Amino acid sequence: MSKQSELDAIKAKILKDDPVPELRQAATQLVFGDGNAQAKIVFIGEAPGKNEDQQGKPFVGAAGRFLNEMLEMIGLQRADVYITNIVKYRPPNNRDPLPDEKSAFLPYLESQLEVIQPKLVVTLGRHSLNCFLPDLSISQVHGQPKRFRGQVYLPLFHPAAALYNGAMRQTLIDDFALIPVILQKIR
Ligand code: URA
Repeated sequence: MSKQSELDAIKAKILKDDPVPELRQAATQLVFGDGNAQAKIVFIGEAPGKNEDQQGKPFVGAAGRFLNEMLEMIGLQRADVYITNIVKYRPPNNRDPLPDEKSAFLPYLESQLEVIQPKLVVTLGRHSLNCFLPDLSISQVHGQPKRFRGQVYLPLFHPAAALYNGAMRQTLIDDFALIPVILQKIR
């Protein structure tokens, strides 16, 4: 089975399992993930927002455009990477995902990573970082690659948080620029 077919099977399993019916009922559709099943880099955000809920794809609003710009800065396009979120349905009114909601979707996220087997997992924001590395603080470890159980993670600030905050925006851009160097060092 191709990696894409395996990802399709995970998506079908979420639809069948219906892990958080309250979120599914309030949302327009599932936002599973988007990009290259063979990608070396997987980006993980928090949860879909309004635009993502409408289009069924992650990071397609203002934060997504900023993410696309940063990808271009390092010579990549969205089709080169894979992008997803911890929580796959939009939380009502864009509230933060609840701990139970994050736990309910984590096994599917782990399955996505098992299929793709990326060299690097880039976590966007504290929710995503703390899903994998619960004891670390984003303000202390952003831009520093961390290896855990054989997987390398790069914690970055969330593009939505950095978008309109000059200092954080520049820090995110500087951290993002490290990706090609970090990728080269991973074996
Ligand atoms: N913010 C996220 O965390 N994920 C998206 O898909 C869009 C915005």
